[in-house]
Amino acid sequence: MKNDIILRGIAASPGIAIGPAFLFEERSILLEGALQPVRDIDKEIKKFKTAIRKSKKELEDIKRNLVKKLGLTKANFLDVQILALEDTWIFDETIKRIREEKKEAIRAVKEISKGLLAKFKEIDDPYLKERACDIKDVTKRIIKNLIDKKDKAISFPEKMIILVANNLSPSDTAQLEKEKVLAFLTDLGGRTSHTAIMARALEIPAVVALREITDNIFAGVKIIVDGYAGVVVVNPTEKTLKNFEEKRNHLLDIEKELLGLRDLPATTVDGYTIDLSANIEFTSDVDSAKNHGARGIGLYRTEFLYLTQMELPDEELQFKIYKNVVDKIYPETVIFRTLDLGGDKIFDNTTPEPNPFLGWRAIRFSLKRKDIFKTQLRAILRASYRKSVRIMFPMITDLNEVKEAKRIVREVADELDKKGIKYDRELEIGIMVEVPSVAILADEFAKEADFFSIGTNDLTQYLLAVDRTNELVASLYDHLHPSVLRTIKIIVESAHRNSKWVGVCGEIAGDPLAIPVLLGLGVDELSAAPIVIPEVKKVIRTLSLKESKEIANKCIGFSTSKEVRNFLRDIINTKLTAIKELILGEDYTKKK
Ligand code: PEP
Ligand code: MG
Repeated sequence: MKNDIILRGIAASPGIAIGPAFLFEERSILLEGALQPVRDIDKEIKKFKTAIRKSKKELEDIKRNLVKKLGLTKANFLDVQILALEDTWIFDETIKRIREEKKEAIRAVKEISKGLLAKFKEIDDPYLKERACDIKDVTKRIIKNLIDKKDKAISFPEKMIILVANNLSPSDTAQLEKEKVLAFLTDLGGRTSHTAIMARALEIPAVVALREITDNIFAGVKIIVDGYAGVVVVNPTEKTLKNFEEKRNHLLDIEKELLGLRDLPATTVDGYTIDLSANIEFTSDVDSAKNHGARGIGLYRTEFLYLTQMELPDEELQFKIYKNVVDKIYPETVIFRTLDLGGDKIFDNTTPEPNPFLGWRAIRFSLKRKDIFKTQLRAILRASYRKSVRIMFPMITDLNEVKEAKRIVREVADELDKKGIKYDRELEIGIMVEVPSVAILADEFAKEADFFSIGTNDLTQYLLAVDRTNELVASLYDHLHPSVLRTIKIIVESAHRNSKWVGVCGEIAGDPLAIPVLLGLGVDELSAAPIVIPEVKKVIRTLSLKESKEIANKCIGFSTSKEVRNFLRDIINTKLTAIKELILGEDYTKKK
């Protein structure tokens, strides 16, 4: 294998990690450099043949469905893949390698696929290039069918590893043995996909949208992950390792210094203090929030509790967990966001939706599954006994949803009253503003909600019509797009006109570049991943509110994200020299 193979993706979670690759899709294979030879050859061959049969059946079903649903007369293009399953180059060759080299079927198929693709790459013929895609698809399908689905526990060998996956769902991530994971790398995903958000919460460096990393590495190969710049170096030389170790030490020193701001307020040089809170996914994140200098919890993504369980958590379990969070952060407040299942956070994938981000998600789910919703509300209300809890509803689209959700809260409150159970009667109920319809009608919504929290992750995806998890369109997804900034301005003005406060809890609130704009637009609260809070605080403490207003005005006047970004990068470059490398995450490989 060549040295210093550089791959570029999207920087999803900061930090530099160095370690051996472990392929998630091959988690049944042991990591050890020289892999264990297969003991029962006949069993392995049987397993391979079963996977081939299963793949064939799947492809034939897809073909039949395409013909039926799309009204095609035939779908012969799939025949190429069906035939490839029994092609000597795949079928006979795999059996040969299992028999003669005692290789596991997954590894044999993967090696064969890699060899074939390398050959196709050398040929400059569009027809054959197309065939390379078929080989890739078909071998992926065989590997998928070779993975033992019963092997549900996501555990790893003894060593610390760099986890490499085509894609990692939030529920996969939630079930990982995180202590052994040095970093995540995925072919797919975007900066605000929930797996990336979780990597930041877990403080594990991550690079996503690498497109083909799973095709380009083998288990055990050494990898450098630079989560600041979104760069991966496969099979590095000693010199490269040394460079990255230097960069790591340098940035760790800066981060350590920033932790010195922990107990200082998020106050601008001209004396304006903004509420700086943390987003959390798990109870354990509360300690990290406090250690990084957050005030309260501005967004508790409660759905992660459902993603880590095999069954729906009951009221008592939820109450225990919620109370723990409330007690730990008291006297500061916690904003509980009610269940936001759906989109890429799937609890039960038995009935996949064609368009999950536009589908049965969040409050839409809760209003239909009142049993689940009421159980959660009871647990939250009970946890509000110290008067430090707020509730907010995710993905509100229509005013009637807010009215109905509030009616259900009242119903639950009445039930608690009847039982004599204590809760906060004045608890604030707010909504997430993350759908354009709410931004446009913000004045009307501000009359129903006690506060707004702007979810720019979804607001960006719905305003720009760009899937936040799709790496193919990641270059179009930008929370600094002027249309997003102008929408934030509309929302803040509407909230303030109605004497309501407004926070921002999307990833933009943890993006140091965006901080002057959010301050300048008059946002009252910022809530971000604990790991980025020190940087955000540093930016706030370097700026004045007056200059932030000027910066915000300038930014909303631009017409493209590029202009906004260039302008803001210049400001960071000149005003925040001490931490600019941390913020701008420059690419070390380009300096060589
Ligand atoms: C958002 O959409 O900005 C948000 C904070 O919610 P989530 O990322 O969980 O969808
Ligand atoms: Mg959202």
